[in-house]
Amino acid sequence: MSGLAVLGATGSIGRSTLDVAGRHPDRYPVVALAAHRDVETMLDLCRRHGPRLAAMADADAARELERRLAVEGLKTEVAAGPAGLEAVATHPEAAQVMAAIVGAAGLPPALAAVRAGKRLLLANKEALVVAGRLFMEEVGRAGVTVLPIDSEHNAIYQCLPPGSGSLEAKGVSRILLTASGGPFRTWPVERLARVTPEEACAHPNWNMGRKISVDSATLMNKGLEVIEAHWLFGAEPDRIHVVVHPQSIVHSLVQYVDGSVLAQMGNPDMRTPIAHALAWPERIDAGVAPLDLFDVGRLDFEAPDLKRFPCLGLAFRAVREGGTAPAVLNAANEVAVAAFLNRRIGFLDIPRVIEGVMEAMPAAPVASLEQLLAVDAEARRRAEAQVKALEDRA
Ligand code: NAD
Ligand code: MG
Repeated sequence: MSGLAVLGATGSIGRSTLDVAGRHPDRYPVVALAAHRDVETMLDLCRRHGPRLAAMADADAARELERRLAVEGLKTEVAAGPAGLEAVATHPEAAQVMAAIVGAAGLPPALAAVRAGKRLLLANKEALVVAGRLFMEEVGRAGVTVLPIDSEHNAIYQCLPPGSGSLEAKGVSRILLTASGGPFRTWPVERLARVTPEEACAHPNWNMGRKISVDSATLMNKGLEVIEAHWLFGAEPDRIHVVVHPQSIVHSLVQYVDGSVLAQMGNPDMRTPIAHALAWPERIDAGVAPLDLFDVGRLDFEAPDLKRFPCLGLAFRAVREGGTAPAVLNAANEVAVAAFLNRRIGFLDIPRVIEGVMEAMPAAPVASLEQLLAVDAEARRRAEAQVKALEDRA
């Protein structure tokens, strides 16, 4: 059994994953794909990869996909809704599952893959932000391997010694999480108030989905990654330092007590961490251009500006408060980013909405997944009300 299942197959990470797998079709046969409602792209992926199963979260999209597959005489079976996503995540012929749905929507199928004993390639950082402790407990119970796809966490994974010991036992003093700084790194705060969705989605180094592009512009992406690193590597927040590195060549670093600092470098192309995770502990060709250091020329590093980018501070606050706080942060952020992308609120309103919701919903201890999903829903309602209030005032 060597099959690959991809959740979020039509997205940026999903398509990059299928690009890498398609370079090694005998090694990674694609057995199951899932997406939200982009029928055209899913149909194209079915033509190219011939999966046994394709699921659409949206029921109308699933019906349309089924009809189009039949017209072309393709044999792929179709499933719909949450059960369809779960069928992809637990497909009996899949040995590994790429979790690349965006947002908390990706949590249930990613957990299902873990419970089914699949090796998990985790791009969906929001799953860990919402339910980090429960998620890692399930990983421990199932005894599965989780390979980080986020380029920073993949870099840290590569710079850490193997094995499950604590960072302390491994002699690690700090994790240095690099951040490009996003498209507005040098912009004055007055200009940030008038930023458009198009400007926010035009990332200088990476070509990504719209939600993570806005997160990169607010630095919330780095905040979510601090929380992700906390759970993946058992790193206390004080051990995680964010370093702005505009070239995005050093993907993160691990500092040891003896003074050594190990870094992982490469061109900013997500196919590198994807190929690393797919083949781990072996290495395969990813289709990525070799790094040319003379071309890069120089590497710069600077401290993040928490005044202009308050989202990073809010995320540190959430991870320190613990309990339900990161789930509240994440849900409010998802609503605020969608409202910004729909031109309902301004760029600087994003942290205002998140902070308002965090104030209204103090951290509580986490008891169950059901509780977290209820907190997620409540935070979304409150964020939506704040968006509405900002709209009415404008
Ligand atoms: P994207 O918007 O390009 O793709 C998202 C995918 O999720 C699509 O296939 C979409 O159909 C699917 N999806 C969305 N909502 C869904 C729902 N309710 N049910 C089922 N499927 C749904 O996003 P992306 O840039 O590929 O990012 C995916 C994840 O990977 C995010 O969590 C992001 O933070 C993370 N990530 C992305 C990058 C990158 O370079 N793009 C890098 C690091 C981490
Ligand atoms: Mg990242």
